[in-house]
Amino acid sequence: MITFRPIYGVIPIPVIYSRRLLGPWGSGRSYGVLVAIDPAKRHDRGLLEHELQHCRQFYRSLGLNALLYFLSKRHRYRQEVECYAVQLIYSENPTQDVGTFASYIHRHYGLGTYVTPTDARQRLSYEYYLRSSAVR
Ligand SMILES: [Zn+2]
Repeated sequence: MITFRPIYGVIPIPVIYSRRLLGPWGSGRSYGVLVAIDPAKRHDRGLLEHELQHCRQFYRSLGLNALLYFLSKRHRYRQEVECYAVQLIYSENPTQDVGTFASYIHRHYGLGTYVTPTDARQRLSYEYYLRSSAVR
């Protein structure tokens, strides 16, 4: 199944519900110009918004973020914190999920010793606070 979700109000992002485009870990994946979501998670709004935020990162960097994401731990860390903060906005239990997502950031993005779970939790909490308290 495929749907389209606009970002920035004008850019249609294809959302493909299929496990084939996913990596070895995770229920969603962004390819910059399109998003893949596990069909079992099709009602997970936070997951979708996380992946769409990666598409915004792609377009606002004119595609450069895709390269930086793979080359720079600092950049990858920043991008994931931003997307997990967006995901938290849609969480029914952000207090619990901030710890879960911080753990994901620490374990699943090749950040190794670059970021501890405590670092990730503090930074994610701060980013979430800024985004959730902003006028939307
Ligand atoms: Zn992500």
